[in-house]
This record gives sequence, C-alpha cells and structure tokens, in this order.
Amino acid sequence: MSSWTRAIGALAVLDTVLAAAASGLFLLKAAAGVTIPGLYLPVLPEIPDGVKVGLLWIPAGILVSAWRRSRRTAQERSATGRRDRIGVAALLVTALAGVATVLLLAGFAGITIPGAYVSVLPEVPDSVKVGLLWIPALVLFAVWKRSRPAAARPADPPVPEIDPPAGEDGGPIAVVRNVVKVYETGPVRVDALRGIDMEVRRGEMLAIVGPSGCGKTTLLNCLSSIDEVTEGEVIIAGRRLSDISDSEKSDFRAERIGFVFQAYNLIPVLRVVENVELPLLILGEDPKAARAKALGALRSVGLTGEANRRPSELSGGQQQRVAIARALVNRPTIVFADEPTGNLDSETTQEVVALLKQLNKESGQTFVLVTHDPNVARIADRIIAMRSGRIEKVYRPTEF
Ligand code: ADP
Ligand code: MG
Repeated sequence: MSSWTRAIGALAVLDTVLAAAASGLFLLKAAAGVTIPGLYLPVLPEIPDGVKVGLLWIPAGILVSAWRRSRRTAQERSATGRRDRIGVAALLVTALAGVATVLLLAGFAGITIPGAYVSVLPEVPDSVKVGLLWIPALVLFAVWKRSRPAAARPADPPVPEIDPPAGEDGGPIAVVRNVVKVYETGPVRVDALRGIDMEVRRGEMLAIVGPSGCGKTTLLNCLSSIDEVTEGEVIIAGRRLSDISDSEKSDFRAERIGFVFQAYNLIPVLRVVENVELPLLILGEDPKAARAKALGALRSVGLTGEANRRPSELSGGQQQRVAIARALVNRPTIVFADEPTGNLDSETTQEVVALLKQLNKESGQTFVLVTHDPNVARIADRIIAMRSGRIEKVYRPTEF
C-alpha cells in the first residue's frame, strides 16, 4: 500500500469518526433531549445543527471512496466500480426504507420522534409512501446480485479445455496448439517448428508431406511424446503431454502409441512373432495372450507363414509389414509412421500403402503418416503440406 493510500485512509477514518460522533450527539439532543456538556462546538450558529452534521458525512464519504479506489488497480476498478456503485445505492435506499418503516411502525404505536419526519406529498398515506420506498431498494439489490463478478459465482462449472476432450467420442484424438520447436545445439539454433496448429480426427488417416528438413519428423516426434515441444501444447487422447511425467511417458507411449519407422527397426536375433509380441511383454502381458495377439496382428498384415523366421530372411516390404504388425498389436490410440515406404521399391510401396489403408478402413485405426511420396500421401483422408516449420496448406486427396 502506498503512503498516499495510507494518508487518505487515515483522513477517512478521522472524518468518519467525527461525523459519527456529531451525528450521535445530534440525535441524542434532537430525539431524546439529552445534551452532554462540553461536547458542542459553536461553529456557524445560524445553520441548523442537523444540516452541519449531515454535511460532515460528505467529506467522509468522498475520502473513504478515494481510499478504496487508490487501493485497487485500474483493471479491478473498471470491473468492480459499477457494481460497487449499485451496491452502495442499494444499501442507501434500503437504509432509507428501513428507517421510514421503523418510523411508520413507531407512529402506529403512538411514538413520534420530533424532527425525523419529512412532509412529502401529504395527500398520499404514509404507509403507501413507505411501501413504495422498498421497490427501488429491491430492484437495486437484484441488479447488484446479477452483476456479481464471474469469478465469485459459486455455481459455475469448470470450463473444459477441449469440448469434447480429445480422444473421447466425437472429439479429435490429437490436438496440436501453437507448437514451436527450437533445437539449440551450442551456438546453432534451428527453428524446426514455427507455430503448428492442427488436429487429428479419430479414425483418420492423415499424411504430412513437405521437402526434406521442413520439420516433418520433428512434428511427429513432438506428437508422439518422443520429443518435447519448446512452446505450445500437444494433447493425445485427452492427455496433455506436458502433464505426463517422464517416468509415466514410456508407459503412455507403450499403451497408446504405435510407431513405424523408415528403417523397420526390427530386432534381428528375434523371430518375427517375437518382434511383434515384444511390446506386449514389456507392458507385462501374459506370454500366452501376447503370443496369440502377435499371431493375430501378423495375420492382419498377411504374414502368418513368416511368424517363425528371422527378419533378415524377409524382403523389405515384408519387414515393414512386421513393423506395422508390431505397431498395431496393442491396439494403440494412434499410429505414427515416418517415411514407412522410404526404403521400399515402388511395387512394395503400393503393397504396404494398401495394407495401411485397409487397416485404417477395417479397424478404424488412426494413422499419421509422414511421406515425401505424393502417391503415398494420396491414400490419406487429408494431406498437410509443410514448409520451413509451418503448415503451408491442407489438401484433400483429390486436390493433391
Ligand atoms: P524432415 O523430417 O521434414 O526432413 P526434420 O524434422 O528432421 O525434417 O528436421 C527439421 C529441422 O530441424 C532440420 O533443419 C534439421 O536439421 C533440424 N533438426 C532435426 N533434429 C534435430 C536435432 N536433434 N538437433 C538439431 N537440429 C535438428
Ligand atoms: Mg524426417
């Protein structure tokens, strides 16, 4: 609190005490005829005491209001000033109506207080006048209650961040808001993502295209929680990635996210079915159940006959199909594929692309697919074209 505010506050208290004391003395003298010797100051004897006492309240009111204003910031003032004025008016009118009602009731009981009556509209009965006084009081109180600041309203439910939450029925599975990614390695600074806003819809197949170095892999890594964003936020299946602790993150990825990489990333010493069941075993699944699920996933990519072979005995297209089976075996919320056909010849590319499309159609699996091959991109439902860390344009497959 500034010294200015303190000084105004002290003056306000002094003047209020003075006005209250004078009013008390005046009321005692006028209503009850009681005088306390030595307490009266003979100032301006030609003005009636009632007027002088009333005038004392004006500087007191001004000082109190100036003190309150100087305590608040300009922002608070504009928000609450109107409400305060309505509240004060409501209190004043209510006090007036209350006093008038008491005087009226006292009059009914035969008690009259000299000097306390104002003779306005003598032809209207007193009880009607007093009753009418309550109307503005009630109206002002109603207006004051309605103008309560939003934050003080107790019944307001919390506003959900996303409505409906990402990943819940109907909502997007992934939401990316104003994501910025800066790599700073020593003196070099790379602005890999410069403000990305996008959503991935449930069951959608989304392709991300763009020239080498435009940020596709970075975006995918930020979406899949492999990498952390510099600014902005990513929400997957209703969970804000920044709210997930590092220790929880690997579980989150294992349970919700599937990955397919350009370089298959199969473990060469494990047989095909063992590669596919590995994510389930890591999550603690019963080995028998894991084996059954792995064989099911291999069937869905057309590799039942290769289950017991080693990856090196398979063609590139077959190896990538194993990687796809591995990505899908846990029925993840979303599958990210970074250049999944980058190592494949055009014929095998078509085979893998057809498989992805089929899995997307048949099981409603959501895919986000990075590719620089327009023929691959065109199988998607939407195509996001990136350039220099930004989304340049969003295409439908027929426009691309
Ligand atoms: P794309 O996948 O579209 O080819 P990337 O997302 O891999 O592009 O890269 C985007 C930019 O960020 C490039 O300039 C790249 O050199 C840079 N970059 C990517 N990863 C890193 C990293 N770990 N450290 C520093 N710079 C990186
Ligand atoms: Mg890349």
